[in-house]
Formats: sequence, structure tokens, C-alpha cells
Amino acid sequence: MQEPTRLHAEIVCDVCGSHTQVLGFGQQFGTLQASWGYGSQHDGEVYRVHLCEPCFFCTLANLRREQRIHTMFDDDQPADEHEFGRIARDNFFGDV
Ligand SMILES: [Zn+2]
Repeated sequence: MQEPTRLHAEIVCDVCGSHTQVLGFGQQFGTLQASWGYGSQHDGEVYRVHLCEPCFFCTLANLRREQRIHTMFDDDQPADEHEFGRIARDNFFGDV
């Protein structure tokens, strides 16, 4: 995993190596990141993984599957599992 060194350096997917540049629309990618602090088992470690669109949604599907396993006996199941992780829709201007 390599952090871009220039302001507009191209970000490639850390999983499949695909370019994230969408012609005419800039770079489109997701980020999985964490900065673990005191009290955690990974204290002081910082992670950032850039993901292209297919790898992001593949990762999200795997997490959703894990969530289903952890909550399979719960009475309260999510009404729409496609909302997993999504905090906004129609956020075309980056307000969120
Ligand atoms: Zn990818």
C-alpha cells in the first residue's frame, strides 16, 4: 500500500491494482481505514486501504455476510440489508 505523494497522484486499488480514475470525473474509490489507540491490541498502528468500486462492494458484501452470521439468531434483523454501511444517498455535492 502506497500513499500518493503528489496532490493529484493517482490512487490505485490496493487489492486488485486497478486505476481509480474515471475519465472526466476524477478518482472514484473507497477507503478502509483505522487508527488504533491506547487500550487496543494494535495501539499505535494506522491502516488505510484504497479500494476501487468493485473491490469496495466486494469487501462490503463480505462484511455484510459476517454481520448476518453474528446476528442470525437476533430477533431484530435489518429491514434492508442493502443499506449496510451506507450513510447517505443522492449525496452528489459531498455534503456528508
Ligand atoms: Zn480493486
